[in-house]
Amino acid sequence: MIDSTYKEQLQAWDKMYVWHPFTQMLDYAKETPLIIEEGNGIYLKDVDGKEYIDGVSSMWCNIHGHRKKEIDDAIKLQLDKIAHTTLLGPSNLPAIELASRLVEIVPHGLNKVFYSDNGSTANEVALKMAVQYWQHRGYKDKVEFLALQFGYHGDTIGTMSVGGVEIYQKAFRPLYFKTHLAPSPYCYRCPLEKQVDSCNLACLDKLEDVLKTHAHAIAAMIMEPLVQGAGGMIVHPSGYLSGARALCKKYNVIFVLDEVMTGFGRTGKMFACNHENVVPDIMTLSKGINGGYMPLAVTLATEEIYNVFLGKYAELKTFFHGHTYTGNPLGCAAGLASLRLFEKEHILENLAPKINVLRDKLKQFESLEHVGNIRQCGLIAAIELVRDKATKEPYPWEERVGVQICLESRKRGLLIRPLGHILVIIPPLTIKEDELGRMLNIMYESIRMITE
Ligand SMILES: *Cc1c(COP(=O)(O)O)cnc(C)c1O
Repeated sequence: MIDSTYKEQLQAWDKMYVWHPFTQMLDYAKETPLIIEEGNGIYLKDVDGKEYIDGVSSMWCNIHGHRKKEIDDAIKLQLDKIAHTTLLGPSNLPAIELASRLVEIVPHGLNKVFYSDNGSTANEVALKMAVQYWQHRGYKDKVEFLALQFGYHGDTIGTMSVGGVEIYQKAFRPLYFKTHLAPSPYCYRCPLEKQVDSCNLACLDKLEDVLKTHAHAIAAMIMEPLVQGAGGMIVHPSGYLSGARALCKKYNVIFVLDEVMTGFGRTGKMFACNHENVVPDIMTLSKGINGGYMPLAVTLATEEIYNVFLGKYAELKTFFHGHTYTGNPLGCAAGLASLRLFEKEHILENLAPKINVLRDKLKQFESLEHVGNIRQCGLIAAIELVRDKATKEPYPWEERVGVQICLESRKRGLLIRPLGHILVIIPPLTIKEDELGRMLNIMYESIRMITE
């Protein structure tokens, strides 16, 4: 803990100098900044010594809790050898070892690992790979993309071009390349106004319509499997993923799965695509890759894609892409330690009872007057708040009900961050069942406090 004069100094500097992401700084300036000083397990501690459950897994990436000894030790051990060396040219031990471990655990066939340092770049790499792949094969027109409404793939111009979340994107639309958006399988607000038990996944027919007309110009389809994260934790009906996969195969379009959020156990299996036995052509991973310790990402591709890039240098088939911190040894060492923990602590096996507790606990929210929809996939859940339950009329986003509820939760020792009027539950995978219960109790009280 720090003394109060220094704390005030930090708060002042924070407001003066730090421009926070996705934050209206005018609002931020009105509040007392929350400054985290340490963490331990699922708890974060601020400069006043107050503890909070890390209910967002520090932006959806923490898996084993904070200050996990095995990961700390692996980083310290690597630090005694080297912190960073480039992968442009030379290779390094942790990058090689992690690549070979990843190939063992991802769906069979994805055996080429391209490193970068965040989810956006991993997807950007996937998009560039797809376009260049078709160029090399002589399909010069395949330069457009297919993506889903409410999809989110990052904040670079390229990944925003394939994004489907309206309010983040408005200002940049003139810069985008061409992307066709298919309807999101968002069953609570079905864009086709069907019912999930009788629709026969009509949204897949819409997807096929786009492919039928435009596949000759489409390099790849990119989507988040099972759950669309930033678009509102939209949980897809079963069968959509495998259906989309089959359609892309049928129409000769590269199928890219963005597992940046869903990867590494979030959905109850190692990867979301495992639930429907889907093997994409390209897969991207980042958030949970090293337990949420430091920036690292990978884009995995099949041998088939990789081989098309092989040739004499003068043919310019090289994949011209790379980042300074590509394959950073510290990040990779942490990744290896995280994967060892998955085995040693039986992370996946231990998830099932937690997923059930979450499901049971969520039931009590159904009776709340302003809870319109509750959805869950593994250890991800969302509570969609509505002004009127019968008509599903949403709260106007300007009212920031979600933010108010999260501020109320913060007072009670829980840190969560909403997506508009959708409350998100995404704790570290090692959260214990009673802690999960406490987290949901705080949310329940906070929702009642703000909406009733
Ligand atoms: C967070 C996220 C990204 C972007 O990752 P960054 O590391 O924030 O660039 C991309 N796709 C999905 C599905 C995500 O959840």
